[in-house]
Amino acid sequence: MTREDLVKTLENIAQLLELKGENPFKTRAYKNGAEVVQTYPGDIVEKAKNDDLKGIKGIGDALQQKLHELASTGKLEYYENLKAEFPDTIFDLFAIQGLGPKKVKAVYEKLGVESVEMLKKAAESGAIADLAGFGKKSAEKILEAIEFRETNAQFFRLGDVAAPVEMILEALKTHPDCLRAEAAGSYRRSKETVHDVDILVATDNPAAIMEFFVENEWTETVLVQGATKSSIRLENGLQCDLRAVTNDEYACALAYFTGSKEHNVAMRGRALAKGYTLNEYRLATKGGSDNEDPGVFEDEAALHRFLGLDFIPPEIRENTGEIDAAEKGELPRLIEQENLRGTFHNHTTASDGRNTLEEMADAAIELGLEYLGIADHSKSSFQANGLSAERLRAQISDIRDLNKKYEDEGVKFKIFAGNEVDILRDGSLDFDDELLSELDYTVASVHNAMTLPEAEMTKRIISAIENPHVTMLGHLTGRLLLKRDPYPVNVPAIIDACAATGTIIELNCNPWRLDMDWRWWPLAIEKGVKTSINPDAHRTGDLQFLHFGIRMARKSWLTKEHVINCLPLDEIEAFLKG
Ligand SMILES: [Zn+2]
Ligand SMILES: [Zn+2]
Repeated sequence: MTREDLVKTLENIAQLLELKGENPFKTRAYKNGAEVVQTYPGDIVEKAKNDDLKGIKGIGDALQQKLHELASTGKLEYYENLKAEFPDTIFDLFAIQGLGPKKVKAVYEKLGVESVEMLKKAAESGAIADLAGFGKKSAEKILEAIEFRETNAQFFRLGDVAAPVEMILEALKTHPDCLRAEAAGSYRRSKETVHDVDILVATDNPAAIMEFFVENEWTETVLVQGATKSSIRLENGLQCDLRAVTNDEYACALAYFTGSKEHNVAMRGRALAKGYTLNEYRLATKGGSDNEDPGVFEDEAALHRFLGLDFIPPEIRENTGEIDAAEKGELPRLIEQENLRGTFHNHTTASDGRNTLEEMADAAIELGLEYLGIADHSKSSFQANGLSAERLRAQISDIRDLNKKYEDEGVKFKIFAGNEVDILRDGSLDFDDELLSELDYTVASVHNAMTLPEAEMTKRIISAIENPHVTMLGHLTGRLLLKRDPYPVNVPAIIDACAATGTIIELNCNPWRLDMDWRWWPLAIEKGVKTSINPDAHRTGDLQFLHFGIRMARKSWLTKEHVINCLPLDEIEAFLKG
């Protein structure tokens, strides 16, 4: 039983209760309970096991008992009974974009739809269009959502695979027969989504490593168990492949399995031109060439050096100019996590965040940051409990008080008062200029009317950029990876507008977003646009998303000079004032 298991069970109960049409207060109690368990700052599983949940706000008597039963026995009778009333496939329906619990209930009760497959048939046959409260447009939307789900079903967000992959790697590295190990493939290249994960191990005893990998608690299904290659599926559905090579082969194998394909093709061509063949195990003298055998490479850097190149960081191996730059000695020095000095765009309990201002600040201090920008939602984001002008003014004053306290106590830390101000449909902002000018900075974001045509959306965002009080643009395209496509917007035009006005484009590093996309940053850099790596944190733990921000920034060829939150406190203060 993990925290995730507890959360998932409570969420599933809430969904099933909604499906049954139970009292909304009861449903809400489970939803809130899931949220409390998710964010509880301590070992909630242990507490549940020991029946020690009394006094935790948001977990009443009934929930305490259920969590205790679940954590101590691994099962919850109440949930098992509830589940037995519905087909297993019903949960898949809740995952269809735009199909809330009310609609799931309607299609289930009125059309007998029990699975995504049946939903698709019902949408195609016109049965959904005829259903009260649906209509033709909503049937079309459902079909689109199903299609979207089918294309994305084979992919995982980087943020969702990082923890299991790192856990497996750590375990492999402690195995006595493991000489070296690394995850290769798109995971190592920090793609925003990955299809599967390739792990490479150097060993003299591949059989032992294969057995350890396959017969471990992380394995849900064994797909292949071979002498030097095995594949398993993890509980979350992710396929993990493990390859074993000798220590001598490791450098070439790591380079090969890291890819990308296009990068590898270019590297092989380069080797050939120098009279060598490069494959997944070695670089060898090409037949007919009188080159000497190059021997064994200690690591990838040695291989690159031999081919006349500076070491190419794995994140940028996409054949978009990295080989050329490595040859000329012009690779940028990519940003690293320790370059970050602070971060902007973070929420608190004042809007839809789960931790208070003080808790967020403490967590930032704990991380070693020198400053934290708060940017709660503005009033039009009512679903996110957006702040009124009055509440925002009160928050500004709280922040000033807290900063005074830090100053008095000699703590070198500052909170910047900001706001994630909604860009309204017409391009105006949710607060007037007078209020915005009282803030240290603003993040302007689109949260509604996302279906505008591209030209209108672009014009809308550019109007916001042209407001001198807008410091940075939040999650530029509104995408939610594997869930919601970006809204149509002319990114190069936005980049130009930001360059002209000195507006920053954030790199939103919430793993659901990773927006603006890494493919656009080289253009933004060329135009002189800067970024801020922002976690869009809604709880203290979300500050860890900065790690993904660094990975994406490296993939985007960004250096610390491009990222304003690498500036030390006194310089960022001057920057925001200027
Ligand atoms: Zn937002
Ligand atoms: Zn936000």
